[in-house]
Amino acid sequence: MSEMLYCEGCGAILQTTDQTKAGFIPSSALETGNRICQRCFRIKHYNEVIPIQMDEDEFLEILHSIGQTDNFVVQIVDLFDIDGTLISGLPRFIGHNPFILVANKIDLFPKSVKYEKIKHWLRKYVNEHGLFPEEIFLISAEKNIGLKEVIHYLEKEKGNRDVFVVGATNVGKSSFINQVIQILKGKQSHIELTTSRYPGTTLNVVRIPFIDGKDIIDTPGIVNHKRFSEWVGPKTLKAILPNKTVKPKVYQLAGEQTLFWGGLARIDQVGKTRNNFVCYLANGISIHRTKRENADEIYQKHLGELLKPPTIEEAKQLPPFAKHDFRFTGRNKVDIVISGLGWVAVDGEPTNIEVYVPKGISVHLRDALI
Ligand code: GDP
Repeated sequence: MSEMLYCEGCGAILQTTDQTKAGFIPSSALETGNRICQRCFRIKHYNEVIPIQMDEDEFLEILHSIGQTDNFVVQIVDLFDIDGTLISGLPRFIGHNPFILVANKIDLFPKSVKYEKIKHWLRKYVNEHGLFPEEIFLISAEKNIGLKEVIHYLEKEKGNRDVFVVGATNVGKSSFINQVIQILKGKQSHIELTTSRYPGTTLNVVRIPFIDGKDIIDTPGIVNHKRFSEWVGPKTLKAILPNKTVKPKVYQLAGEQTLFWGGLARIDQVGKTRNNFVCYLANGISIHRTKRENADEIYQKHLGELLKPPTIEEAKQLPPFAKHDFRFTGRNKVDIVISGLGWVAVDGEPTNIEVYVPKGISVHLRDALI
């Protein structure tokens, strides 16, 4: 595009190159004279929001401006990648504005988990990260679990404030907003969504009329580059995002063994100990167990074939493995979390564990969640 064109809906600069960013319009639509971005088009004609993204730094600045006025904030996290999707800098930016934490994708957890236990764990975890939400909700946007409770809470507690919904990419923010629209439509038959700029910023937001003349506002998803989902190609992304209840896979390891999670991660039990490794990851990722001494060779020979995902093609786009060392003390069960991929719960004898993932992806230890 030679001259700069702006979306007639939200005012974003129109662009035809990146579907995930503000102002995207397919070039075919642009050629026929349309001046409305795909996001505004979907909102206008289908009352549906589609995700757009923004880098965390850029977004935190915008959050800051949200914090300057009186608002209510809903932060959505992905229960399957809590660490990678928690915006721990939130309080610094939203100031004294109240916020609630909505943890999505509870449908992925085994049916036997106790909601109260997960909530308790979450509260402790987020408190340790300096977050003190007014309330925590466990929901599934896709299976419509728990949404009514969130809306009911907002109706009661939001006071005379707009409600801002914030979250990292792929947490299910669009799915959440779209369910909210459906529920609100059931209550007020005609809801008209609008797009606008947040005052003083370049942020394009979607406004959904809520109650008492106040809105629920969708914001761009924040990109966290330490998560797997931001590094992999589309085929691998599809394989690593779980879409069904995750079946924990239990491995009893007897020393000096390796588990490959496809070709995406390698977990080594170092030393001659006995441990249980319970793996929580998308069912479509195959786990391959081997002797540690053979692991290098297997990886060299079989990446993209026996060890997949990724496909051979998509493996080439990933950075080389970097090693992360952990000490399991044997006292309490722990999870080793690979951001955006899953986690392994470890118990048994004290041991050292090495985890290999593409450089740049975050790996860390936490108290066991389940
Ligand atoms: P956004 O980037 O935060 O707007 O996320 P989307 O709403 O586009 O969802 C990202 C991915 O998570 C998609 O593959 C959705 O199908 C999936 N997803 C969203 N909500 C849920 C949920 O409640 N459960 C499960 N299992 N998947 C979900």
